[in-house]
Amino acid sequence: MPTSQPKTIYLSEYRVPDFLVDHADLRFELFEDGARVHSSLSIRRNPDSREQGSALELNGDSLTLESVHLDGRQLAPGDYDDRGELLVVPSVPDAFELQVVTWIEPQNNTRLEGLYKSSGMFCTQCEAEGFRCITFFPDRPDVMARFRTRIEADKAAYPVLLSNGNPVDSGELDNGRHFVTWEDPFPKPSYLFALVAGDLVEKTDTFGTMSGREIDLRIYVEPRNAEKTAHAMDSLKRSMRWDEETYGREYDLDIFMIVAVDDFNMGAMENKGLNIFNSSCVLARPESETDMAFQRVEAIVAHEYFHNWSGNRVTCRDWFQLSLKEGFTVFRDSQFSADMGSPTVKRIEDATLLRTAQFAEDAGPMAHPVRPASYMEISNFYTLTIYEKGNEVVRMIHTLLGPERFRKGSDLYFERHDGQAVTTDDFVRAMEDASGRDLGQFRLWYEQAGTPVLAVEDDYDEASQVYRLTVTQSIPDTPGQSGKKPQHIPFALGLLDTKGADIPLTLAGEQSTGETTRVLELTETSHTFEFTGIASRPVPSLLRNFSAPVRVNYPWTRDQLMFLMSHDSDGFNRWDAGQRLAVEVIRELSGHAEAEVDPRLVEASRTLLNDREADQALVAKMLQLPTEAYLIELADKPDVQIIHHARERVLKVLATALREELLACYRRQQPAEPYQVTPEDVASRSLRNMALSWLLHIGDQEALTLALEQFEKATNMTDQAGALRALVNSPFEAERGQALEAFYQQWHQDPQVVEQWFSIQAASPVAGDLPSVRRLLEHEAFDWKNPNKIRSVVGAFAGQNLVHFHDQEGSGYQFLAETIRRLDDSNPQIAARLAAPLTRWRKFAHVYSEGMRKALESVRDKEGLSRDVYEIVHKSLAD
Ligand SMILES: [Zn+2]
Repeated sequence: MPTSQPKTIYLSEYRVPDFLVDHADLRFELFEDGARVHSSLSIRRNPDSREQGSALELNGDSLTLESVHLDGRQLAPGDYDDRGELLVVPSVPDAFELQVVTWIEPQNNTRLEGLYKSSGMFCTQCEAEGFRCITFFPDRPDVMARFRTRIEADKAAYPVLLSNGNPVDSGELDNGRHFVTWEDPFPKPSYLFALVAGDLVEKTDTFGTMSGREIDLRIYVEPRNAEKTAHAMDSLKRSMRWDEETYGREYDLDIFMIVAVDDFNMGAMENKGLNIFNSSCVLARPESETDMAFQRVEAIVAHEYFHNWSGNRVTCRDWFQLSLKEGFTVFRDSQFSADMGSPTVKRIEDATLLRTAQFAEDAGPMAHPVRPASYMEISNFYTLTIYEKGNEVVRMIHTLLGPERFRKGSDLYFERHDGQAVTTDDFVRAMEDASGRDLGQFRLWYEQAGTPVLAVEDDYDEASQVYRLTVTQSIPDTPGQSGKKPQHIPFALGLLDTKGADIPLTLAGEQSTGETTRVLELTETSHTFEFTGIASRPVPSLLRNFSAPVRVNYPWTRDQLMFLMSHDSDGFNRWDAGQRLAVEVIRELSGHAEAEVDPRLVEASRTLLNDREADQALVAKMLQLPTEAYLIELADKPDVQIIHHARERVLKVLATALREELLACYRRQQPAEPYQVTPEDVASRSLRNMALSWLLHIGDQEALTLALEQFEKATNMTDQAGALRALVNSPFEAERGQALEAFYQQWHQDPQVVEQWFSIQAASPVAGDLPSVRRLLEHEAFDWKNPNKIRSVVGAFAGQNLVHFHDQEGSGYQFLAETIRRLDDSNPQIAARLAAPLTRWRKFAHVYSEGMRKALESVRDKEGLSRDVYEIVHKSLAD
């Protein structure tokens, strides 16, 4: 752990590697008290490097060096310099074999980077810089080697030994040990290396590729999870087929493996041929996992699989290019999820995440471009900006080019760069070359941080039947960036006539094409568009389907929003109009106890509840009130307590006024058995559970009876957890306690369900006050070494239970700071992630910001702060 200020690394200082590794031959001897790693590397000088006489430098972290051999000759300690984080061999020939033996202690590795143990199994996480915790290596993504890996371990304790590629050899050894050797024919960077050794059961299947090859598919889990793999396997096969059909990408090894691991810092990792997953992102069965978990598993299995091309076959030159693989792959998985379910609902979910959390990041002290220019600790840059805004950037290219030219671009990208480590610029250039479009100005999306704001003004001239729309863009300053240039923004819009029908859109000087949604391209600070032949003043439907990750300001009246809610042909904008209306109504109540809830919101909700013809998946989304987090994001110097109480009041007024409709909705929505995760059934369960939670919120006795019955008789977790959550957030204290206890007794042997149980309580404004949350940390099922448990208690409290986290005494902030200090030594990645809610202290009203700042300072003052937490805290506190 560094004690002085960590070094900042700059994109502008990138240099090609001085040495390349053609082949890495690894042998792992795994024991209970540690592991010995024998590494044999075929190294040569990089002809493209300007430093032809330079010393060899290999990265290392927490390694005990046992020996170094160069071309078979053992080096004396004076022949090399072991500086801990760097092994330097000053004098080496142009090409040579280097053999290094290191000793590591996976059983004591609580950082969960490199090789570590989880539930008795050995596993790895090497992205971004974990491989250097295994052995000395040029641990950077532009060094791509062919790996051969031999694993040796006790056969009884570790019958399954896995690594990347195809298995090529196996056999028995002395003392009850055995070995398996794996060979990966594809050159890859060290961050894609993986190893697993454990007592696991395998679920197998096969997939026939488009060229007629049969791929062996395997999912490895602990025996107790054997019944939870079917959904992931189905999702995998659907992903493989979809990637062939949509992108022409075929799988390339003979075997594809997924392993579920309980202790994991991230969601999942796309290691070549051997994906390692956080258990919560791969295991699912109806009884114990919710609809949301099913959808998450499908999306993440697809995401990691898609990386085989967008990430593994073509990888990143350096970590500044992280969005090259992540933005593109999130785009691919979101296209896949849209194709598998409801495209409109998927778009709403993506935009909600972006507008709530990524916009907040873009407006905070950690704001950075999709391609950052510098970092201290790369682990801190696995952000919503890199992933979700990166996805939006690729989506905009897709919108600008159209699906066919986009596909030509992706084909060219894969063909041109197969086996290479490249940049986001290479990606954009392939899109330009294949389509003939100039994306020069568009590249600013990769370089400029901050969320563009579009101010829209309009006027209508009845005499000439011309409707004029002026769009002015501005991009706020962000740390280190001011005076930004206008960006190239695809701005989709439609116009509704007085009856709510789409008007064909013809710009001045054009022939009519009959098109009713147009994608206008904004490139200047301000544009005025003139639409001709408009018979009466229209209602604009702006940024249809959320065509760009921007904020739009336009002064819609509440009646216009109601009109758009019921008439807009763009499902996304129907939803968005409802959100805007609800935001205005809640805002109006904020701090005004005597103000009335606008009856138009009640009527709009009543119409939705009664509308049986409409897409119920969209209705379910439209009925959800904007979250507190979103309301806070929209506000200037928000007062969290006031926002919370205003939203609560709206909810209570709605639930009281719509009691009959909610009960009818609850009774009507009966999804068919058996359980299926179709958009219809998901919507049906979501509406039922929403109706129940609204009614329990106002203490409705009839709803209590329904909730208790649903809790006891539920055959799937969506309904059981839905009833539990509604009870936990209700005023019925006795029933709440009984349900929590019964749920725990029923599920205490299933860690994924226990995590839900924790988070339902920690996120509850009713049951999750700070003393209760502290008690959860003392619970027998809580484990400080397990990131999922920490996220389900501390993460849920600080991220979702805003009324208690933002307690005005600052106790919530101090609690979070205490947790971060505690985790900083054992798992700095998780500690740094938890700090996010505090980083935005400047945004909040004074009564909050002071407490948040003090909490951050108490973290800053900890001795021996990790690089991860150091970067976040110091950037947040900087002037
Ligand atoms: Zn990814």
